[in-house]
Amino acid sequence: MGNIIGIDLGTTTSEVAYIKDGQPVIIGNEKYCDGNIMPSVVTIKKDEIIVGKKAKRQMLIRPEITVSEVKRLMGTNEKIIINEKEYLPQQISAIILKELKEMAEEQIGKVDEAVITVPANFNDIQRAATKEAAQIAGLKVERIINEPTSAAMYYGLENIGKEAKILVYDLGGGTFDCTVLELFSGIMDVKASRGDNLLGGKDFDNRIEEYILEYISKNTEVNIEKLSKKKKSEIKETAEEAKKDLSVSHSTDIIINNLGIDKEGESIDVEFELSRDTFNNLTKDLIERTEVIVGETLLASGITGKDIDIVLLVGGSSRMVAVSDMLKKSFGAKIISSINADEAVALGAAVQAGIKNSKISSESGLIVTDVCSYTLGVAVEENEFSPIIKRDMKLPIVKSEIYVTSSDDQERVNIRVYQGEEKLTDDNMFVGNFVIDGIPKKKAGEEKVEVTFEYDLNGMLDVSVEVLSTGQKKHKLMAVERLNEKDIEDLSKDINIKQKNLTWKDSELYNIVSVSISVAKDKFEKMDSKTLEDVNSIISEMKTAIENKDKDKVTKLDDTLTDILFDID
Ligand code: AMP
Repeated sequence: MGNIIGIDLGTTTSEVAYIKDGQPVIIGNEKYCDGNIMPSVVTIKKDEIIVGKKAKRQMLIRPEITVSEVKRLMGTNEKIIINEKEYLPQQISAIILKELKEMAEEQIGKVDEAVITVPANFNDIQRAATKEAAQIAGLKVERIINEPTSAAMYYGLENIGKEAKILVYDLGGGTFDCTVLELFSGIMDVKASRGDNLLGGKDFDNRIEEYILEYISKNTEVNIEKLSKKKKSEIKETAEEAKKDLSVSHSTDIIINNLGIDKEGESIDVEFELSRDTFNNLTKDLIERTEVIVGETLLASGITGKDIDIVLLVGGSSRMVAVSDMLKKSFGAKIISSINADEAVALGAAVQAGIKNSKISSESGLIVTDVCSYTLGVAVEENEFSPIIKRDMKLPIVKSEIYVTSSDDQERVNIRVYQGEEKLTDDNMFVGNFVIDGIPKKKAGEEKVEVTFEYDLNGMLDVSVEVLSTGQKKHKLMAVERLNEKDIEDLSKDINIKQKNLTWKDSELYNIVSVSISVAKDKFEKMDSKTLEDVNSIISEMKTAIENKDKDKVTKLDDTLTDILFDID
């Protein structure tokens, strides 16, 4: 069987993992990642696509051709315009997925399937868009799993013999999820999931960013409306760094230089201290929003806070001190932050992939049950919402309801499918519709149709309808098959401009030697032929050492070169 990888496709960062000797491991590549973590950022130049770490740097210099946080747009029809070309959110996500796939392939050989994670309360259309992104990237989706469930699977694999009631608090870059589950006899039984797709680390950054802008506005003559895109990106970046700093320090310095020129012709700079207390005050309401959701999840799970044995902190933003302070009030010492917050979701996805391709032994016997994150139903008269599958029901699930015609001689019904918790369909989300006709003409209420919803483990919905008197049937996979093969081919063409092969000069190690190489070049003319030959051979050895990432050798060669150059004048 081919390789299957686990992918955490995050708002701000993405990770990929696979199973090695029965254990999940993250695959990183320093070209694209900070550590093992790849920023979910894409820069699209006319003839080149840059992904990850380097694209994140481009965000500062070329914000107009750089895209970040595309996950927030998944499932919408919003177009992203770069160099006058339109891209769908799925295409940008596909670029990220493709890079992760290729990064994995460099280490483990051909990969064609993936388990991809999504926030627990991603709706049907957002899940479908994620699947489409994978298709565009040339990946078959083996499973879509919920992020907190995935993190819990990683924990479950390590603690297979234990029994525990677990709460997963997953605050990522752009989304928040809370899940309550029970681990017993190798089964991870998800009880309930709640969340907010529009709440994450970025919102905390925004608060600091607004604070900085307000400070600039109050304390300098700079018109913040007129700041360049580049300066705004720099402020954004400073805000995020300050936030991370405050997870370990009580205060941090905010420094923004070159905001403009004052009347005396001097550069306008600002520098001030931001304390953790001020940050906590600026973001108190955001933490409280997560607290409310934790309460709702517990309520829906039927497990009380005091019965929770373990709280798993997942997602980079769960490192904020205010998160653990808030959770400590209810859960005290039960909080575990030792599982790697950034990697746990991808590692769990790899566990799921490993179960599928038998790379994890069946004795470890980890079984996961998940639940439906939203209520699903149809519109009936007066646009009322009639639920068929209720929120928190176990997946996979098949449920049917019988409906009757509402007018005399009615020959067709329009099945309109919605998702949500409100009484009226207008207040819920439209998922899709289809029409069945050929119903025998009868009085209102005399003809019956049976509507069946089948909701699978990926959280994808198949709807079928049967006219009971005739046995006529029709079915539709709701959001899944929105793209045909031709669409996918077209969409993948646009993302096919390849990242240029990085040269040795793009490597971080090149920084160590770049000065001595340029000095050497300046002195070429003064060298005798023997020295010139030696110097060229050292430079060529340096190139190889840089490509092999052999830092010791690079440093040694640099010392030798510097000694030679010192003697030439
Ligand atoms: P994830 O998508 O789970 O990787 O989370 C990324 C988010 O975590 C981003 O918003 C980061 O700014 C945030 N993050 C990462 N490290 C820290 C930290 N030490 N303190 C606070 N937030 C962090």
